[in-house]
Amino acid sequence: MRIVVQKYGGSSVADLDCLRGVAARIARTRAAGFAVAVVVSAMGNTTDELIALARQVSPRPDRRELDMLLSVGERVAMALLAMALRELGVPAVSLTGSQSGIITDEAHAQARVVEVRPARVRAALEAGDVVIVAGFQGVSRAREVTTLGRGGSDTTAVVLAAALGAEHCEINSDVDGVWSADPRVVPSAHKVDVLSLDEGLALARGGAKVLFEDAVRYARDRGIVLVASSTFGGGTGTRLVPGAVRRDGAVAVTGDRQLVALRAPADAELPVGLKVRRMFGDRLIVDVRDAHGALAGLPPGVVVEGPVAAITAVGSGLGERRDVAIRAASVLHGAGAPGGTVVGAGDALWWEVPAGALEAGVRALHDALVGASS
Ligand code: ASP
Ligand code: MG
Repeated sequence: MRIVVQKYGGSSVADLDCLRGVAARIARTRAAGFAVAVVVSAMGNTTDELIALARQVSPRPDRRELDMLLSVGERVAMALLAMALRELGVPAVSLTGSQSGIITDEAHAQARVVEVRPARVRAALEAGDVVIVAGFQGVSRAREVTTLGRGGSDTTAVVLAAALGAEHCEINSDVDGVWSADPRVVPSAHKVDVLSLDEGLALARGGAKVLFEDAVRYARDRGIVLVASSTFGGGTGTRLVPGAVRRDGAVAVTGDRQLVALRAPADAELPVGLKVRRMFGDRLIVDVRDAHGALAGLPPGVVVEGPVAAITAVGSGLGERRDVAIRAASVLHGAGAPGGTVVGAGDALWWEVPAGALEAGVRALHDALVGASS
């Protein structure tokens, strides 16, 4: 059995026409001889709407009840998608996270997957069914419904791909793969055909939104091939592969505005959801994307210094390329975006830049460091 996992995000199933289009795309993959396990997100903005609904009832909704509520979004999508497939004559069955054997810890709203028991999914695939799994949710050992944090359907897809031994895991969205920079910012940006999973992880950490950091990390750790592609746009997408991809210089440049600088004593414990990106002594640069108001609940002694903008250039081994760092410094100066400290590590070079010059800096660095063919 050749298994593929296909994940479809909320924008791919925003309405019933999209949902039927997704069903047709799944049917084509199955007709090509694959056993298909599908992970689906809630339709469109359903999750936001459910959160807004909860807030009307309770300004700080109980996390267990919030998980019960939010998990419903994906269940609506999975059942409708299974029905749409059946209309096309394709046998399909939908399963909740719990029915699919996605076992998590107890941390409501930000649960971690601790184990996957894919027996039921596998049996359904063996019987010839397309299996539609509700993304972003699991069940704890105490049999409570949990959710994996915003955007968590990507994680569902990758853990399932690993557990099933899938050939690859497709992450389908409204963009055709990973680009060398955001094309809205950098007109000369191009789609990247192949990235290493390490490069993908460095890009996600640098703020690129096509890739969900936790899912890429899991894929990297387990050696799962990811294919980032567009649901409806055609195109060949981007393959993210284990191991290193040889290249000279950078493959992509990304900017990030969702950062904040904190001053924190060494022993201060930070709230969950704050991801520390850089440490300069007691000055920490944290990513507030998934912070959910955590900045309001900082422990005593931790002070918010202010917002930070940063640029990340990514390429295999780029973090050790002092020659590139030196060239980049003059490029950033020329673009009116003098980078403060440059940090090189692994596959990334990273600069803190003035917020007003972020886009100009990204454009200039992209055109100076990224080869046209990478
Ligand atoms: N529906 C959830 C969210 O909007 C999970 C996901 O889309 O991956 O965050
Ligand atoms: Mg969603």
